[in-house]
Amino acid sequence: MATNITMPKLGLTMETGKIVEWKTSEGGEVKQGDILLIVETEKITYEVEAPGSGLLHIVVPQDAEVPVAELIGVIAADKAEFDKIAAAGGTPAANAPTASSQESAAPSGDISIIVIGGGPGGYPAAIRASQLGAKVTIIEKDQFGGTCLNRGCIPTKALLQSAGVYRGAKGAEMFGVKAGDVKLDFPAVMKRKNTVVKQLVGGLGGILKSHGMKIINGTGQIVSPNTVKVMESGEEIKADKIIIATGSVPSRVPIDGVDLEGVITSDEALCLEKLPESILIIGGGVIGMEFAQIMNQMDVEVTVVEMLPQILPAEDAEIATAFTGMVKKEGIEICTSTSVSRIESKGKKKLVTFGDKKRRLILCLLLSVGRHIQRDLTLARLALKWRRVL
Ligand SMILES: Cc1cc2nc3c(=O)[nH]c(=O)nc-3n(C[C@H](O)[C@H](O)[C@H](O)COP(=O)(O)OP(=O)(O)OC[C@H]3O[C@@H](n4cnc5c(N)ncnc54)[C@H](O)[C@@H]3O)c2cc1C
Repeated sequence: MATNITMPKLGLTMETGKIVEWKTSEGGEVKQGDILLIVETEKITYEVEAPGSGLLHIVVPQDAEVPVAELIGVIAADKAEFDKIAAAGGTPAANAPTASSQESAAPSGDISIIVIGGGPGGYPAAIRASQLGAKVTIIEKDQFGGTCLNRGCIPTKALLQSAGVYRGAKGAEMFGVKAGDVKLDFPAVMKRKNTVVKQLVGGLGGILKSHGMKIINGTGQIVSPNTVKVMESGEEIKADKIIIATGSVPSRVPIDGVDLEGVITSDEALCLEKLPESILIIGGGVIGMEFAQIMNQMDVEVTVVEMLPQILPAEDAEIATAFTGMVKKEGIEICTSTSVSRIESKGKKKLVTFGDKKRRLILCLLLSVGRHIQRDLTLARLALKWRRVL
């Protein structure tokens, strides 16, 4: 059966690609996995592998710019099929499976794989397994893209960008630029952040679909070494291999008052509707310091309390020292070798006790003390042994 070749989606924002070169000429023989053509986008040049073996019929010639997912060629299984396709003026066999170089005819692969979790750990594994010919099912209980796209790297960078533009505009006069009365519109900042996230999550959905894998929105639970149950539907799926990519969630620490309403983690900090006037951040790791900078640049009074002797505890002391100097200069208060011992509610505020009986009345308290994996649902019935490798 013929295999259709479509313009692959090589990036989240890619809409068209240019065929720079077909590596095999019309009617030439190709083998699955051979470099078949070169595609250029505005960002990258990419060697596309042949998704099947047979005789190549070129539908779109070199130098043409083609929308993603559009048919660009067909690989006929044999000469008879090739002649038929060529005689039809390049129309591929109606029953040919759609397969770009990025996808194999995945559902018919020899090996079946279930990926639980659609974050940066899970989705590239699912895509690569599909490219290598496996029959892949990916299960995600929330939004594809995981923490990174939805509650991590991407939304924080979107906020940082807004915060940086605001700070730049406020200081523009120093550079001879009059920006007038600069104001931060926080709801608009959050709206932009949400748009960026939505766009990337949508793009990722398209990429996953284009690889022909089975996509399930639901909670996966491993019920035997080769079976995953989708909790919401009760469907049971069997596979040769299961990849667990269920990620992590924010940790909490046993501080008196830590469960009070208004003590938030990075998840909630990314959904704030209003900027607080002041924030105390417990934990000076990368996530805590990123929020410290975002908030500080948006004119929030920021205090960071870190239990260890330096902020960014995972970094070399030289880096942490230089960074500490920089953020202090920006106006962030840093308290190292200091623990928070108590949090109490005082009306809309929180009274935080830290260090040597220091007390601070604060509007918002962000808990940023690391993340931990969830072992419960996915793994409950498996006697897996855990080994930490990092
Ligand atoms: C605020 C913040 C900022 C960050 N900034 C950066 C950064 O700038 N650069 C960087 O490299 N990293 C950053 N990270 C870290 C990055 O987000 C993570 O390293 C990355 O998301 C981990 O990917 P993962 O796939 O392992 O897990 P996750 O992204 O957490 O994905 C796991 C997915 O599995 C799903 N899932 C869990 N259990 C099940 C189940 N039983 N069934 C189905 N689905 C399930 C979850 O819903 C989730 O979507 C940041 C993290 C945070 C919190």
